Amino acid sequence: MGADNPIRIQSMTTIDTMDTLGSIEQTIRMVEAGCEYVRITAPSIKESENLLEIKKGLLARGYNVPLVADIHFTPNAAEVAARIVEKVRINPGNYADKKRFDQFTYTEEAYQAELDRIYTKFTPLVKICKEYGTAMRIGTNHGSLSDRIMSRYGDTPEGMVESALEFIRICEDLQYYNLVVSMKSSNPQVMIMAYRLLVEKMVTEGMNYPLHLGVTEAGDGEDGRIKSAVGIGTLLEDGLGDTVRVSLTEDPEKEAPVAIALVNRYSNRQKAMQHQGNPAIVQLSENNSTSPYISKEANAFIGGSIVPRVIVDLSSENGKDPFILDNVGYRYDAVNDKYHISEQSVDFIYLGSNLPSFTLPGNLKVLYDYGSWILLQDKVNKHPVYSIAEYNKAQFRDPNLNLILISNEELEEPDFSQLEINDTIVFILQTENLHGMADQRQFFSNFQEIGLNNPIIIKRDYPSAEFSGPMGDDTSPEEPISKLQLFAGTDLGALLVDGLGSGIWINSPATPIEKITSTSFGILQATRSRISKTEYISCPSCGRTLFDLQETTQMIRSRTSHLKGLKIGIMGCIVNGPGEMADADYGYVGAGPDKITLYRGKEIVKKNVPTVRALDELIEIIKSDNRWTEENNA
Ligand code: SF4
Repeated sequence: MGADNPIRIQSMTTIDTMDTLGSIEQTIRMVEAGCEYVRITAPSIKESENLLEIKKGLLARGYNVPLVADIHFTPNAAEVAARIVEKVRINPGNYADKKRFDQFTYTEEAYQAELDRIYTKFTPLVKICKEYGTAMRIGTNHGSLSDRIMSRYGDTPEGMVESALEFIRICEDLQYYNLVVSMKSSNPQVMIMAYRLLVEKMVTEGMNYPLHLGVTEAGDGEDGRIKSAVGIGTLLEDGLGDTVRVSLTEDPEKEAPVAIALVNRYSNRQKAMQHQGNPAIVQLSENNSTSPYISKEANAFIGGSIVPRVIVDLSSENGKDPFILDNVGYRYDAVNDKYHISEQSVDFIYLGSNLPSFTLPGNLKVLYDYGSWILLQDKVNKHPVYSIAEYNKAQFRDPNLNLILISNEELEEPDFSQLEINDTIVFILQTENLHGMADQRQFFSNFQEIGLNNPIIIKRDYPSAEFSGPMGDDTSPEEPISKLQLFAGTDLGALLVDGLGSGIWINSPATPIEKITSTSFGILQATRSRISKTEYISCPSCGRTLFDLQETTQMIRSRTSHLKGLKIGIMGCIVNGPGEMADADYGYVGAGPDKITLYRGKEIVKKNVPTVRALDELIEIIKSDNRWTEENNA
């Protein structure tokens, strides 16, 4: 791993580590699905010892896949595992510290004394790893930072980075360098910032270790895939990452195909780029990371709102059928001849030159090609889309809103220099560059340099049918997962997490419209730029899990999915679960067989509730906080 090696794919078993045969068989299924490393939890010495049996069983069946022991809280288990497996993962937040969820103030001396204590506790493992040639991942998790780190840095990317650096410095002091580092969070924005900062700090300190990328507790289905794409894809676009684990609340063999699809996009890019010219990696000006998504001049476009807008193309749909709007969040009620809107109703539809014969909902804006728009009698809520040349030549323009298609290269062209910029203009940014995200990011930088701040809609085209259907290696026909979620999640998410873009437009003619709509809102949700649904932070499960996470997540989702903006953590065990829930508003955590402990933020509200009553009790807590709304089935 690292250097010029390919980006390695990995995942983690979910079965009890003491179930030797089950672990062997699950590992084999994961290897067959594309895993190059397999991680197995080792909560205590007995599981660590059983890794030897698992390893032997795998070798006997002809599988010599490197194994990784996952350690939390138990240095003695790590020291056993390090003699057996190829790599040990430790969490610096809990290797030598117990998380107390307390905020302490540390004097300089007390802080140094803590570091000395870690040095003493961690040194034996480092020596064993050196002796046995075992690698180590120093894997920071946003949700489980030590009190020491929290006291000085808070729950921040800086704290995450320092948490790992404390341990790396000890390794270097002991001349052990066989390391890989990760900075995981369930919030892709935090995770991206932490990895970028880690690289910066490592460069400053003369370190150069491979990176393991992952979004933790990403959830399942579409949400889990989009969140993973935003977090992992953005960093891969930056050229960072040596191994990838996609973490889904699904069977572990479902994870590798997603990771492979994300990674394979880059395997031939270098060669292809030689023919096309590589957009420079641009450094955006400071204020971009915090800048609002919409410039003040955009009022005509956004109606005073600051969330990114969603455009969906319906130009090829049947213009006589009002039910086509169901797929963009406007449910037509034929009896009363009216539309019901939802939290995922798009803001604009593009019709090109397709003139519908039915009445459109009053709050839906429609975009037409300029040539068709100019002929419309009624132009209320209808706006033109031009090329730059068309706009320059236009005799009549919309007094409120004009959308102009543009690309990075066109900034250099004479048509653009003739353009008279005014505050009715919104640009639709397109790209044909293979490294489209970097090309579009460069556009934002160039645009800034020119001193313009008109709103920019990020448009990406995925013309090929390969984006629409299930991935060839995906095994979930009931919920086909398309590459569109992964690629659009990466391309658009990477810009939105940096605060770039006033809206998004995904064009994929072979993809069902409702998928494009849900992918668009999913990307905005994952980048936390526009919240339109409940967020579930569910762990991927492992040998510690105390209930069926997939089933439980579905059950909780079925009753709470209308609670827009609420974050619910669903964690398989009480040992790590509370720490991993990060910024969840409520937590549903396995406390023992058939026992659930319920949290409000990080505070326990009810302990050891029988599973059968746990969801009802959780809903009662949400209601008592006045955060419950009844589902609107109208
Ligand atoms: S929170 Fe979930 S994945 Fe993490 S250790 Fe507990 S059961 Fe395993």
